[in-house]
Amino acid sequence: ARAAVLDTATGPGATADGHRIPLLANIGGPKDIEAALARGAEGVGLFRTEFLFLGRTTAPSEEEQEAAYRAVLEAFPHVVVRTLDAGADKPLAFLPPPGDEPNPALGERGLRLFQNHPGVLEGQLRALARAADGLDVELSVMAPMVADAAETRTFVRACRAAGLPRAGIMIEIPAAALRAADLAAEADFFSLGTNDLAQYTFAADRQIGALARFQDPWQPALLDLVVLAAGAAERAGRPCGVCGEAAGDPALACVLVGLGVTSLSMSSPSLPHVRAALAAHTLDQCRRAAYAARQATDATGAHAAALAELPSL
Ligand code: PEP
Ligand code: MG
Repeated sequence: ARAAVLDTATGPGATADGHRIPLLANIGGPKDIEAALARGAEGVGLFRTEFLFLGRTTAPSEEEQEAAYRAVLEAFPHVVVRTLDAGADKPLAFLPPPGDEPNPALGERGLRLFQNHPGVLEGQLRALARAADGLDVELSVMAPMVADAAETRTFVRACRAAGLPRAGIMIEIPAAALRAADLAAEADFFSLGTNDLAQYTFAADRQIGALARFQDPWQPALLDLVVLAAGAAERAGRPCGVCGEAAGDPALACVLVGLGVTSLSMSSPSLPHVRAALAAHTLDQCRRAAYAARQATDATGAHAAALAELPSL
């Protein structure tokens, strides 16, 4: 038992029967590199780039961006960088929504903001391409808040034009999950943002404490959307990870793997716990837990049903 504990303290993620699930870190800047490496992150599954733009009224220079990106790209073999996700819960003085929006979460935010500011996206992509130049790193770039195939195509084209070969999208709007096959035809990979996906699925603002129960990622409706996205990705031969908070819950991580998710990205402290949970269960057990969770009619029931199929948790 002691050896097993040591093995799962770091090392690559896999189920007990050897089904590989890369375990990646969510980071908010170079300051988070050390904690991710210490917990054995195999790479970065979500590099939030908002920190570069905080508290400024003009965009950071491409040189400044390049230096920050390079620090992260030098530290890991695989990095997924998310382009700027401004607005709603991440307001930035530098890129406010045009006009007065009564519902900022439903407004011009994330990828949508670049419609009026294409130069900000292009600058970010150029800085990323330059940061990766000459490094032995697999750099992937993804867009937040993508709703449909047309937005996916536009983003992927912008990445290709900047010389970035791996371009994907976050699935965090229900429409994107429902029509995931259309989007998978355009994108190189998916990453499920379960935080926003829960917000939009339940029409419940993630910042309103009184509605916190709708943020629970065990809700069967959310699991159903995960199945749609992961299934469409698999049929298109594309990876589909999860980078929302759901990925850091050891039991839910097993369920997500059972639903067909191919990698998990989480805040670093969760990595050892998720690694141990996967190592203790076979892929078949994960699938049974996923099936059981989806038979439930609410989050509490889904959680209990999954735990009954995961004997080590
Ligand atoms: C998400 O929405 O699940 C996500 C990972 O992104 P963020 O929490 O930064 O919106
Ligand atoms: Mg999000």
